[in-house]
Amino acid sequence: MKFILTREVGRLAKWLRILGFDAEYFTEGPTGSLIVQALRDERIILTRNHRLPKTKGIKIVVISAEKIKEQLAEVLRELKIKPDSKKMFSRCTLCNAGLAEIGKDRVKDKVPAYVFATQKNFLICPECGRIYWQGTHWGNVQDIVRKLGELGS
Ligand SMILES: [Zn+2]
Repeated sequence: MKFILTREVGRLAKWLRILGFDAEYFTEGPTGSLIVQALRDERIILTRNHRLPKTKGIKIVVISAEKIKEQLAEVLRELKIKPDSKKMFSRCTLCNAGLAEIGKDRVKDKVPAYVFATQKNFLICPECGRIYWQGTHWGNVQDIVRKLGELGS
């Protein structure tokens, strides 16, 4: 399942990426090119715009919630998505690229010393070079996702 998000719900992209979904921004251009991009890449449109034309082959979810967690819950509920913890943290939250594994020996100068000392597994974004690891925020995210799952059911 892939997404394209319009500007007003753009912050949601980061969360969808954390959950492992391919989520692109649509920030520029006319509605027509949004439709074209959604069709071409088979993306679900997430937006606040009620006036997007209904187009065959495109699913549009109009988000009504204001808060980011409620928006995410709304998407999960609307599309009947159950977050899969195995897919989480497989994408760069900045540029949406799929993360690749990188050997611990290659990240020594790129992460804080305490992280290097305590973590075994690292991932790298092939686009921007950002290094990811199973840090303390991991627990919080799983917590939030569990709550979202409860909201959705
Ligand atoms: Zn990146």
